[in-house]
Amino acid sequence: MSKKKVKKFYLVKGFKDILPEDQLHWEFVRSKFFNVARSYGYDRIDLPILEDSKLFVKGVGNLTDVVSKEMFTFETLGNEKVSLRPEGTTGTVRAYIEHGMVNRKKPVKMFYMGPMFRYDKPQAGRYRQFYQFGLEVFAEEDPIIDSQMIYMTYQLFDELKIPVVIKINSIGCPKCREKFLKTLKDYLKKNKSKLCKDCQIRYNKNILRVLDCKEKKCREIVLEAPQILDHLCDDCNKHFVKVLEYLEDSQINYELDPFIVRGLDYYNRTTFEVLPTEEFCGGDSGSQNALAGGGRYDYLVKNLGGQSTPAIGMAFGMDRIVNALKKVKDLELSNINTSDVFVAQLGDKARKKVLVLFEKLRRAGFSISESISKTSLGQQLEEANRLKTRLALIIGEKELLDKTVLIRDMESGNQEVVPENKIESVLELRLKSLDISVKKVRMR
Ligand code: AMP
Repeated sequence: MSKKKVKKFYLVKGFKDILPEDQLHWEFVRSKFFNVARSYGYDRIDLPILEDSKLFVKGVGNLTDVVSKEMFTFETLGNEKVSLRPEGTTGTVRAYIEHGMVNRKKPVKMFYMGPMFRYDKPQAGRYRQFYQFGLEVFAEEDPIIDSQMIYMTYQLFDELKIPVVIKINSIGCPKCREKFLKTLKDYLKKNKSKLCKDCQIRYNKNILRVLDCKEKKCREIVLEAPQILDHLCDDCNKHFVKVLEYLEDSQINYELDPFIVRGLDYYNRTTFEVLPTEEFCGGDSGSQNALAGGGRYDYLVKNLGGQSTPAIGMAFGMDRIVNALKKVKDLELSNINTSDVFVAQLGDKARKKVLVLFEKLRRAGFSISESISKTSLGQQLEEANRLKTRLALIIGEKELLDKTVLIRDMESGNQEVVPENKIESVLELRLKSLDISVKKVRMR
């Protein structure tokens, strides 16, 4: 009989699984983000992954790489042209307008977290589905907000023990940028033929993007190019000076960088990117490695049909941050795969009892675990040790008959027999005497 080979399936190129063993790092990053965002007064918003393609074309810009080359766009069965979101700001702006958030108490601060999709060339740290954590502040023009966002970003990386440098720039407003772009065009004219193919197109259609090109030959040419900071109008200059002034005594590691123009069209004034320091990443801290980036987008709400509303936002690349975190040496991850109490059983009748007792203790708030499918007590206690459990409850035939539970201290090996109906209060006392707070719900 011929054995037919069954087709195996694999990940689609550029996509990846986040396996159970990686979740500890992810959970750590997520919890730090949530904590910081909530402390700074941001409320969570969850946005759909799919949006009208035109939202991104208009919002991000149809000449950007993200929209012109990297969007996953398709038609639904109902002939709607939709795209998997390549970023979170435009969706947040759509929601801000659609839900009349202009009437809310100002500033409106929101954070989001979730997958983004870009059909980019997959490589280390660059995926076609990646996760972003984003912050957006609407209806606030004050430069202190720009400085605060940069400052809190730095502190967040400090807490994660990832040493970073924040590169800051201002790309002005449409008024001053127009003049600057003419100057830039004049400068680049003589070198146009030496620019990469993409930049030759950018030269005509979206010249600012040339400053952002990652190609070595383009980077060499723009090194000597005129700088936008020298061409800011008075208002933009004042704004930028204030942003820097507020950061002056903050002792954060930042640099001015005239090439931080960002890859999306909606930005104006303050722009910034966060890079790991060269020491940390072994010398290669190019903008390909950026861990986060953001800036002002004072015109986007109006451009997408809302009232004129100043705004600023940023996005953190969570995949890259998790990758960086794995290189941090003295990181203490609070182990989510641990429990305080383990329930073990010997014999079929005891299993029935444990089935119910486990749930009772779980609901009472104990951080608890089990391995009910195992029959050997040795194997069960091995699992208890693996989970670094301090107390094991053991129910065998004798305990069933006596209506008792055996409590075993997994560290000292001491054991005591406790009446079944006193188990909760005794457990609470024992954990307390071990300095373990009881209401520590375990997450898996
Ligand atoms: P952007 O939305 O392009 O400003 O990106 C913000 C952050 O998201 C970057 O600094 C990266 O950390 C991360 N990021 C952007 N594109 C990708 C990608 N293709 N794969 C992984 N992370 C990405």
